Amino acid sequence: MSEIVCASCHACFSNGTSACPSCQTALIYTGDDANVITTFEPNCLVHRMRGSDRLEPAVLLKEGRTNVKVATRLAEYARPLTVPKSETYTFTPDLLAHIQALRNERTAAVHRYDARIAVYWRSLVPYYDYATHEPHSAPPDMPSISLTVTNE
Ligand SMILES: [Zn+2]
Repeated sequence: MSEIVCASCHACFSNGTSACPSCQTALIYTGDDANVITTFEPNCLVHRMRGSDRLEPAVLLKEGRTNVKVATRLAEYARPLTVPKSETYTFTPDLLAHIQALRNERTAAVHRYDARIAVYWRSLVPYYDYATHEPHSAPPDMPSISLTVTNE
């Protein structure tokens, strides 16, 4: 069972019913008279998280004076998102793909750096003993740090 959307009222429900459970319109699944939306076909890009460089493909449903109502998936036809017109762009799949690929690379790089930093963090020795609250005596295997400064 996949999700479908009634073209009349934008209710979203499971495929296979003969009438819209919301507005009772008889549903036609195929042909020129089809009145159900079965696939998500974006026609714009929206930027809805300020400070993020994430773009999302969306379907423009309704235009207001300063905002638009969009759906970023079929289920959102029934409860559309409000996005400022100024944050709505034409649907440009190749630009979206480039941005997405670079965002994925950045995420992978950040994870690699985080993992390397974590290795060093795991090597830190607490200054204070948690039990006694006294400064930790150096464990036997802790390397001694020379405080002698040699002036050459
Ligand atoms: Zn309906």
